[in-house]
Amino acid sequence: MTQKDARKLLRRTFAKFADEELKPIANELEEREEFPREIFQRLGKMGAFGIRYPREVGGANGNCTMFCIMCEELARVSMSVAAFTAMQCLMSTDFLFNHGTEEIKENYLKPALRGELVGAFSLTEPDAGSDLGNIRTMAKQVGDEFVINGLKSWVTNAPYANMFTVLCQTDKSKGIRGVNFFFIPRDTPGVSVSQKFDKMGTRATLIAELALEDVHIPLEYRLGEEGRGLGNLMRILAEIRIMTAALSLGLARGAYEESFQYAKDRVQFNKPISKYQAIQMKIGTMATEIYASNLLTYDVTAMIDRGERCLKEASMAKLFVSEVACRAADEATRIFGAYSYANEYPVNRFFRDTRFLLFGGGTSEILQTMIARYEGLF
Ligand SMILES: Cc1cc2nc3c(=O)[nH]c(=O)nc-3n(C[C@H](O)[C@H](O)[C@H](O)COP(=O)(O)OP(=O)(O)OC[C@H]3O[C@@H](n4cnc5c(N)ncnc54)[C@H](O)[C@@H]3O)c2cc1C
Repeated sequence: MTQKDARKLLRRTFAKFADEELKPIANELEEREEFPREIFQRLGKMGAFGIRYPREVGGANGNCTMFCIMCEELARVSMSVAAFTAMQCLMSTDFLFNHGTEEIKENYLKPALRGELVGAFSLTEPDAGSDLGNIRTMAKQVGDEFVINGLKSWVTNAPYANMFTVLCQTDKSKGIRGVNFFFIPRDTPGVSVSQKFDKMGTRATLIAELALEDVHIPLEYRLGEEGRGLGNLMRILAEIRIMTAALSLGLARGAYEESFQYAKDRVQFNKPISKYQAIQMKIGTMATEIYASNLLTYDVTAMIDRGERCLKEASMAKLFVSEVACRAADEATRIFGAYSYANEYPVNRFFRDTRFLLFGGGTSEILQTMIARYEGLF
């Protein structure tokens, strides 16, 4: 099968899953505000979590383009499901694959790719959001162990995660250059997780704080060489950003598809509202911005698949497509009028879920600044 055919098949498979199995329950999942474990396990069986890993660890030997196609199709219907899937495929497992010991790979990575264990990835702290150089969680080497103390915030999947990849300081004097990632199994003494956050959107992906109090882990649970934490994060940063662009593209398409149909169905003044130029202009703009978003997103995934450096382009794509998703969701609520205000319509959910896309993978303001820097402005 050619790469092109493989991509088409993958898109069809996840689009079918999203339309037939997720769509009918997507709103209910948000209302229940629980982790849908059976869907997670089903995605594991479908090979979703191993999509970007080689077969030797149970992966599907796919690439970043395939990963993003899957994210896009899931996000078109449910951002909650897309978000926990993306997290499990990339941030929660990548450091285990690239820097984990054989024991970590065997006992944690492989089961995670099969959907038997849930991972989480933790950078953010109460006083360190964009400013990761300010993290305070400290990992001190004591004999043949690390002892970790600190508080992490906004940890996606924390309430039910079996393991955490956690960014810690090992040398405060070096700021962002003195950070490292550590692997912490959930059942390690000293690990505790707060109540789930009560939040605006993606309510079926639960988030909580992670407290680490005198957590002892073996030296080999540091993921990567000492002082290489930032470098290792940079290695996957383009992929994190383009993944967020793909999630945004999916949501924009979902908002567009719902709006398109509603505009044809809703009759006012004896005509479907699609006959009014005001509505046509919205649909025309949404379709154009989605087309541009598609080109940007998959241009960058192709660069990643060719092994090219593309952090600037990935940042541009994430900035552009997440803002497109916000505009598409906004226009969708206008097309739906009062009905967008009712929770039963998905456009209401899309509107709330777009906010997450503005922060994850770098806020728009930070990305704008970084792009200016990549351009050589300062
Ligand atoms: C749904 C959700 C899930 C998340 N999941 C995770 C997770 O699993 N793991 C994790 O580690 N984190 C997670 N986060 C946290 C996310 O990564 C942070 O929200 C993000 O890093 C931004 O940090 P902040 O929200 O504290 O904003 P801040 O950094 O406090 O920024 C606030 C505002 O100031 C602006 N700003 C800050 N610094 C600058 C500057 N230098 N120049 C210009 N403007 C600036 C920002 O753009 C923003 O508008 C999640 C967040 C959400 C909402």
